[in-house]
Amino acid sequence: MKRNFKILVIGCLICLLGVVLGIKTQILDEDMAIFHMFGFEEEVEIDPIIIVLDSGHSRVDGGAVGIVNEEWITEETTENLRELLEADERFAVVLTHTYDTYVSITERRERAEAANADLFISIHCNANEQSADISGFEVYPQLPENPMWSESYYFANMIVDGFLEAGHTPRKESGIFYVHYEENSDGTSTKYTLTEAEEDLYDFTGETLGVLKSEQFPSILIEQGYVTCPNDVENWMSTEGCQKAAELYYNAICQYFEEKAAELEEIEAV
Ligand SMILES: [Zn+2]
Repeated sequence: MKRNFKILVIGCLICLLGVVLGIKTQILDEDMAIFHMFGFEEEVEIDPIIIVLDSGHSRVDGGAVGIVNEEWITEETTENLRELLEADERFAVVLTHTYDTYVSITERRERAEAANADLFISIHCNANEQSADISGFEVYPQLPENPMWSESYYFANMIVDGFLEAGHTPRKESGIFYVHYEENSDGTSTKYTLTEAEEDLYDFTGETLGVLKSEQFPSILIEQGYVTCPNDVENWMSTEGCQKAAELYYNAICQYFEEKAAELEEIEAV
């Protein structure tokens, strides 16, 4: 009888231990579930991706004039894009200037550098006073000699693809252009706007557009269309047009950084 009692006590202790361990495990699981539920493991400090937006002109300096004024379009598109990016927690937006202040091109680049930009986008529109038929978009990456060229060129092509998918036409050839200044013997310089196909003809030792000169981050400049062309104005400079352009730029930004993140994961996995 005494022996049976001992076995009973030991049995009860084992059961009790099992119950305690079971409850403890359950509590831990529940804790982990709550932990996961609130996404705490994702709350590890992740720096936002800094996108610097440069509305090519402001209400002070103005820009090209046509059916609409360039600065109205660059402001509206930049503002729409800023809203889209700020609604996405992955991104932080820095504007090179407010819409009612003029800031020099050099200062815009320096502000982007000070902000540790991950990507810089300058938004403009073209004009042609001679012909309302001249139309189309242009995208300017950094020069091939810039260490940021390949990233800049890659992103510029994403913008081109977005425009093409949306039915916009390039001003010429692929839609990718380079601006290159060559010094003349009299101290002046000549500006060359080259298509991608012409890039081999130049050694690009000279200057380019000031906003594309940084070597710290990829930069592009977009000419959204011609303010002098009724078709471009209707499709890319109306309220809907500016929103469509902003969405296109936003989608390209998302795709660009998603691809970069996937690349990084692949490298880490090796
Ligand atoms: Zn402009």
